[in-house]
Amino acid sequence: MNILGPCSAESREQVIETASRICDLGFQISNFKLIYRAGVWKPRTSPHSFQGAGAEGLAWLQEVKERFGIPVATEVASPEHVRLALEAGIDYLWIGARSSATPIVVQAIADAIGFAISELGISGLKGIIIKNPVNADGDLWLGNIERLEKTGIPVIAVHRGCNHQPCWFMAHQVRLARPDIPMLLDPSHMSGDAAKVPELMKKVAELGLDGAMVEVHNNPSAALSDAAQQIKPEEIVERCTVYGVGCKDTELNWLRAEIDELDEQLWDTIAKRMDVSRRIGAWKKAHDMTPLQPERYREIVERIKSRDESQESRDFMLKIWEIIHEQSLREQE
Ligand code: PEP
Ligand code: MN
Repeated sequence: MNILGPCSAESREQVIETASRICDLGFQISNFKLIYRAGVWKPRTSPHSFQGAGAEGLAWLQEVKERFGIPVATEVASPEHVRLALEAGIDYLWIGARSSATPIVVQAIADAIGFAISELGISGLKGIIIKNPVNADGDLWLGNIERLEKTGIPVIAVHRGCNHQPCWFMAHQVRLARPDIPMLLDPSHMSGDAAKVPELMKKVAELGLDGAMVEVHNNPSAALSDAAQQIKPEEIVERCTVYGVGCKDTELNWLRAEIDELDEQLWDTIAKRMDVSRRIGAWKKAHDMTPLQPERYREIVERIKSRDESQESRDFMLKIWEIIHEQSLREQE
C-alpha cells in the first residue's frame, strides 16, 4: 500500500497535476497499490503559516478520484472534519501525529466515524490511518488502534517517528503487539528532509513493512507546507527503492534498527557530556582548580556502585566510566 501526494492541497491545479504525474508512474511499479493523499486541514505550529485550503480542497480530491480512478485520503482532526470528508466520499481518513497524542481527540474521531456509518448511512470508507503520536508512546498508539477498530473499519498504522527521527523501538513494539495491522513508513515526516527520504525507504523492505506514505509535490520548492521534505513524483521511481518483496530475517533487522538507534543516542550523549566537561574545564581554569578532583570522581564511582544491578553489570559500567573520565580530563587540560 502506497500513499503518495502533497502535504497540503494548495490549489486545484497543484492537486490535479501532482496526481496526474503520480499516476503516470503506475506502470513502472509492480504491486503498487496507490492511494492519493493531500491534507485540506493542516495542523501547523504557527497560526501565520498556511492552514490548508479547508473544505474546498475536498472537491479537488473528489476530482482526482473520478479522473484517475484512485482512492483518496485526507487528514481529520475533529468530528466536523470526519463528517465533511465522508460526505465528500474520501476513501481513507488519516489521524495525524498531534491528534494521535490526544486520546480524547482520537475517541471523538472514532465516535464521529461510527455515527456517520450507523446514523448517516455513509458507506465506502476503506480505512483509517493512524500515525504514531508525536511523543514516543507505543502504548498510546496501540490504544488508538483499538479505539478506531471499534468502528469496524480496517486500521492502518503509520510510523512517522518523533522529532524528525525514527523511533524504531516504538514501531517494533507496535509491530510485535499487532502483527495483524498493516504498518507503513512515513519517511517524509520522519526526517523532515527530502534528501533523507530515499535511504529511509529501504527500511520498508528490510523490516517487512506494508508500504509507505510519502509526501510528493509537483513543485516541492514552492510548497506551502513541509517544502523541505517533499519530493517530485518521478523521484519515487528514480531515487527510492521500490519494494513489494518481503525480506527474510525481518525480526533481526528490527533489532538491528533498534541497536543503530541506541548507538546514535549513545554517541550524541557522550558528545554532549564531553562538551559539558570542556565547559567545566574552562570554569576550573578560571578558578585555579586542577582538572582532577578526586573527591568528585569518587562520588561518581560510588553512584555507579550503589545501583541495584548485578556485580557484573556494575563492573562493566565502571570500566566504561573510567574511559569516559580519562577522556574528560584530557578535554579539560
Ligand atoms: C501530514 O501527513 O501532512 C502530517 C501533518 O503528518 P504528521 O501528523 O505525521 O505530522
Ligand atoms: Mn506534511
